[in-house]
Order: sequence, then C-alpha cells, then structure tokens
Amino acid sequence: MSSLQPVRGTHDLLPEEMRAFRHVVETGRGVAARYGFAEMATPIFEFSGVFARTLGDTSDIVTKEMYTFADRKGESLTLRPEGTAGIARAFISNGLANDLPFKVFYAGPMFRYERPQKGRQRQFHQIGVELLGVSEPQADVEVIAAGRHIIDALGIKGNVTLEINTLGDTESREAYRGALVAFLSGRIAELSADSRERLERNPLRILDSKDEGDRAVIADAPLLGDFLNPASRAFYDDLKNGLMDIGLDFVENPRLVRGLDYYGHTAFEFTTDALGAQGTVMAGGRYDGLIKTMGGPATPGVGWAAGVERLSMLLAEAPAAERPVAMIPAGNDAVIRREATILTERLRRAGFCVDLAFSGNMGKRMKRANKVAAKVAVILGEDERLARAVTLRDLDSGEQTTVSLDRMEETLRGLFAGGGDAFGGI
Ligand code: ATP
Ligand code: MG
Repeated sequence: MSSLQPVRGTHDLLPEEMRAFRHVVETGRGVAARYGFAEMATPIFEFSGVFARTLGDTSDIVTKEMYTFADRKGESLTLRPEGTAGIARAFISNGLANDLPFKVFYAGPMFRYERPQKGRQRQFHQIGVELLGVSEPQADVEVIAAGRHIIDALGIKGNVTLEINTLGDTESREAYRGALVAFLSGRIAELSADSRERLERNPLRILDSKDEGDRAVIADAPLLGDFLNPASRAFYDDLKNGLMDIGLDFVENPRLVRGLDYYGHTAFEFTTDALGAQGTVMAGGRYDGLIKTMGGPATPGVGWAAGVERLSMLLAEAPAAERPVAMIPAGNDAVIRREATILTERLRRAGFCVDLAFSGNMGKRMKRANKVAAKVAVILGEDERLARAVTLRDLDSGEQTTVSLDRMEETLRGLFAGGGDAFGGI
C-alpha cells in the first residue's frame, strides 16, 4: 500500500467538508452552553486501563476495536475510542467531586478499529455532553433536551426520532439477567460465537449484537421492562413525564440497550431514516456506576455522544463560506502590485476577508474572484493609483464606482451590509 494513501478508515476533511463539520461542532458547542455545559478536553490517549476497566472486557470496543500500543517505555496506551471514560478519569484525577453538578461539553477525534463503510470510520469525531452528580431523572431530561435542540438547530435531513428505554437499576437487571440467561441457554445453538461467549459473563450485551442470527433470537427474548422494581419504574415514568412536559416526542423501544457496561436506567438514541444502516446519530444514557468503578467517589452521571461526520452528512444546507473582497491589480506592473499588497493588508486589518489575485490578466483574476464567491472586487489600475483611489465593483449587481482611498473601507462596509444605495452620495 502506497504510503501516500490515507490509512484505511481515515479521511481528509477538505475545506468544504470542514465547513460543514465545524458548523456541527460550533452549533453543538453553542447550544450546549445554553444548557450550562462548559467545554473541556481530555488527551486523545490514556492508559489502556482507563478504557479496559470502564467499558468492560466484553464490549466490542475493548475486544475488537481499540488502537492499543506500547510506548517507548513499554507503557500500554490506547487512542480513545469514546469520550466518557476520559472525562470520568479527569473528573477523578482533578478531584472535581466537591463541586457538583459537573457539566461538560467536549468535541474531538475518536479511534476504533472497525470495518469502514459509509458513516463508519476508524478515525471519526464526536461531540458529547456529560452531567455528573445528579441522580434525579431531571438531569436525563436536560441532557436529552440539549441533544434534541442541537439536532433541531442543525436542521438535519430526514426524520430524526428519539428512542428511549430503561435498563433499570442493578436489582432489576439482576432479576432480568436470570430470565435472559435461561431463555438464551435454550437457544444457544442459534447464537453467534461472540454471543455464546458473553452468555456467562455479560448476557445483556447480547441484546446489542448486530449479528442477524442473534437478532432473530433476541426478538423472542423476555423484556427487561417486565422485570423492573418499583423504584426503577418510577424513575422511568419521571423521565417520560419530564420529556412530555417540555414537548419532546419520543418512541419507547423496549429492546434498546447500550453497548457499554456502565449504563443503568435511561438509554436513548436519536436515529434518522436518512442514513441507511448507520442511522444512529446520537446515543447516550445514565451511568451511575462508572465513577465508582474507576476508583472515584460514587457519583451518578448521564450523557450522550454524537457522530460529527454523520451529522455533517445530514446537513440540509452546509453553511457558505464568508464572501471575501477580491483585490484585483489591473496589470502586472510592479508598482501596482506593491500598492495592491499594501491595500490588501490594510483591508484585512480593517476586518475584511480579502483574496489577492497574485498574477494573470484581468479576465483570469475576475474568474478567480468568481470562484471564491467574492462579493466585491477592488480594482487598482494606474489611473486609480495616481488618483489615490480604487474602483469597487459589486459582483452581484455589476454596478461599480471609483472612491478615494480614505473612503474605501466605509464604502465596502456599505456594500457588505447590502445597502442598495451604498454607492449613493459618491
Ligand atoms: P454503532 O452501533 O453504530 O456501532 P456505537 O454504539 O458503537 O454505534 P456509540 O459508541 O454510542 O456508537 O457512539 C455514539 C455515536 O458516535 C454513534 O451514534 C455514531 O453517530 C458515532 N459513531 C460511533 N462509531 C463511529 C464510527 N466508527 N464512525 C463514525 N461515527 C461513529
Ligand atoms: Mg460501534
């Protein structure tokens, strides 16, 4: 494989894609801020134990998907496959448990060794929120509302449905576990090798299998919802009532589980019908056991993560780049070229985006102005130079006028503000 190829499952974000990508991240960041989530960042690699311990040694991520390597001292490190474990580690190592609730937003690259396909890469990006320190379902409602708000603000294609379920508390899951194992044991021959292996260690995980044979068995399995104790049922009712209070539509999916070990009570996903098999754009839930599992003080938590690439692909309209000013020196005369450079810098300092056509005849330079979608061309020829002036051409209307240099910025501002008579009074 040529070393000039990007690594399989990785992807260059060329400027246009990057714009859509940034729009997703910035919208997420902005909306999350309104809900009181402050941004933080953790390293993109951690000691492998951070993930192995928290994600559980039967998860797909830990068993198949992690990029784990020994550093030069032989320390086992892992490129983060997801964001929550690192945030939880940071919460503990920075001693943040005294100032609750702890509410953060994050954005960044994640790494999983998966089979690449549309909407599934080996390096991808997530935005996410975590809310630590609140055990009431009100926190779940807030976290879900922030997610819905971001999806709405992005205006993404297709119908995006909120699916919810409850995994109950530990006692309920234990009760269910017995019934599930009994059922699955009866149909063990139909299960995949992976699932047979999980039957003892983590039967709930089988419910999240993507294997078709497994899925057929799972369709007949008993439902966790029938094993909830009163406290778990009350929690779930409060969640649903809370969502209804603020007008958030949802669909209950009794078979929805999260692929990770540390979830309990709330599990949810936002799915779209516009992305084929990779239809989940945002997924999350409650993880009250996580911080304690990692060795920190028992602290409840709830959060979600969303795939930035998947959301970017679904933008109904990618935001346009800011329209620049095109600086067009008329001719290749060295004096004019210098003057054009000086004016370009002056305009940039005044806050304008300016594209300077470095060379070529007038036609070629106008073509370039078109290509970068310039709003106005600033034309500087010998006549203008001698008159200490420039010619401004509104590239939308074709209208143009010559203004003295001391009125250049002011006139440009008028044109950008869209004033029909920006040339008036000249
Ligand atoms: P899936 O069932 O699709 O494998 P998952 O359960 O592994 O998803 P999470 O760990 O919940 O996904 O990640 C949250 C979100 O991150 C997903 O809903 C998806 O939008 C995105 N995501 C996960 N893995 C990838 C990937 N390999 N490439 C692109 N986006 C991804
Ligand atoms: Mg996955």
